[in-house]
Amino acid sequence: MTRAISLHDVSKSYIRGNRVVSGLSLDIEPGEFLVLLGPSGCGKSTVLRMIAGLEEIDEGELLLDGEWANDLLPADRRIAMVFQNFALYPSMTSRDNIGFPLRIEAPGEDPRSRVDATARMLGIEDLLDRFPAQLSGGERQRVAMGRAIARHPTAFLMDEPLSNLDAKLRNHLRAEISGLTRKLGVTTVYVTHDQAEAMSLGDRVAVLRGGVLQQVGTPRSVYSLPRNVFVAAFIGIPRINLLRGVVRAPLDGAMTISLGKQYLRLPEPLCLDHQLLRVQQGREVIVGLRSEAVRIAEPASARPGEVHITGLVEHVEFQGHEVLVHFNTGSRPALVPDLEAPRPAPPVRRRRRDSGSVLERLRHRAGTLRAGPVVALERPADDALDPAPPEGRLPGDLIVRTTPDFDLRHGMHVPLLVDLAHLFVFDQHGDRICPAPARLPDLEE
Ligand code: ADP
Ligand code: MG
Repeated sequence: MTRAISLHDVSKSYIRGNRVVSGLSLDIEPGEFLVLLGPSGCGKSTVLRMIAGLEEIDEGELLLDGEWANDLLPADRRIAMVFQNFALYPSMTSRDNIGFPLRIEAPGEDPRSRVDATARMLGIEDLLDRFPAQLSGGERQRVAMGRAIARHPTAFLMDEPLSNLDAKLRNHLRAEISGLTRKLGVTTVYVTHDQAEAMSLGDRVAVLRGGVLQQVGTPRSVYSLPRNVFVAAFIGIPRINLLRGVVRAPLDGAMTISLGKQYLRLPEPLCLDHQLLRVQQGREVIVGLRSEAVRIAEPASARPGEVHITGLVEHVEFQGHEVLVHFNTGSRPALVPDLEAPRPAPPVRRRRRDSGSVLERLRHRAGTLRAGPVVALERPADDALDPAPPEGRLPGDLIVRTTPDFDLRHGMHVPLLVDLAHLFVFDQHGDRICPAPARLPDLEE
C-alpha cells in the first residue's frame, strides 16, 4: 500500500511572526519519489516533520490519501522516517533495532520473520547480531533503513539520510535507495541540500528557499527551465554563469544585450522569446549561460545562433576528463545571496550578559533566513569593470567547460562562441523572462 500526500498552503513558525515554512502547497502522488531540495535552514526538515506528525501545522492542511490528517497521531500515519544521524538504539543489536517498532506496533507477534526478510532485502543478514558501535556508517544507515522498511510503511520520509557518509558510499547507497523504494513502490519524500543527489534520485524535485517553494518539476524541467535565478544557480554543476547586462533595443538596429565591455547581438530574425525582451529596453537584466552554452572557437566557425565574444583566461581548473576555464569577459556577475559563501564574520567577543536570551538569538537567526530578494543588484550596471571578484567565487565571470586538449594559460585572450538558443534572461527580481515563463495564448488558434 502506498499513499498520496498533499500539503495545501501550509505554514509554520517556531517563533511568532517568523515563518520558516510559508504557504507551501505540494501534491505527491502514490508511489512517487519526491525530493525536497534547498540550502541548509530553508525548512526542509520542518516540512518532513509536519508530514510525519512530529511537528504541528500552524496553518493550512495535510491530506493523506485525500483525508484531513493534521491531527492524526504519528503512529496512525503509517509513515516511516529515516534520519541523517541513523538514530539507532546503541544498546540493541541490529535485529532488535529493526524489530523494535514492530514489537511496539504488534506486541504479541514475533517480528523475527519480518526482520529476516528485511535483512535479506538489504543484504545485512550478517550484521543482525552486532551492536551499532560495531557497524560502519554505511552499515548503520542500512540498519536504520531496515527499521523503516520492516514496518511496511505506506510512505518513507528520509531526512538527508546519506550526508554523514563518504562520497563513494553515498553514491552506492543512493542507487540502493532508489532501487529499493521503486521495488517497494512506496511514496517517498527525500530531503537533501545536495542538488546532484536530488537530480539523480527524484521523479520530481521541489526547490525550497527560505521556506517558500520556488519550483517543482522533473529534474530535467527544473534544470532546463528554471523559474528564477535561485533555481538556475542552485541546480547544475558548474554553477550557471550569471552576468549583469542591459537590453538595448534600438528601433533601427539589431537588438543586443550589453555585458559591460562586450555585447551579445541577438540573431535576426528575432525568435519569439527574444522579441519579448524588447520591453526590457534600457533595463538591467541578468543573463544566464550554462557552461554548455559557451564554447571556445574562432568566430569564423560560428553556427547559426552563435555569437562571438572574447574572454581573458584567469584560472584553469583541470579535472581530468574535462577542464573548467574561468574567463574574465569584462562583465559583472550577479550574486545570488543565499548561495554565495558567507563572508567570515568578524570575531565577536561575547560576554554572558550581553549575549541575549535564547529566544532573542533564535529570533535573530530565523530573521536572517527570511526569504529576501533572490538576486542582489545593489548598484545599477555601468560599463565600468568591477575589479573586485565577489566573495566566495573564483576569479573570472564566465566558466566554460572544455576538453583537456586546449592548452590554455592564465592571461590568454580566447575567442568564445555563445549559443543564444541556450540563453536565459532573468529580470531585476530574478524571475525568468527568456525563455518566456508562459507565452500568451495565440489568439488566432
Ligand atoms: P533545513 O532542514 O532545511 O536545514 P529546518 O527545517 O531544520 O531547515 O529549519 C528551518 C528553520 O527553522 C531554521 O531557521 C531553524 O533554525 C529553525 N528551527 C528548526 N527547528 C526549530 C525549533 N525546534 N525551534 C526553533 N527554530 C527551529
Ligand atoms: Mg534539515
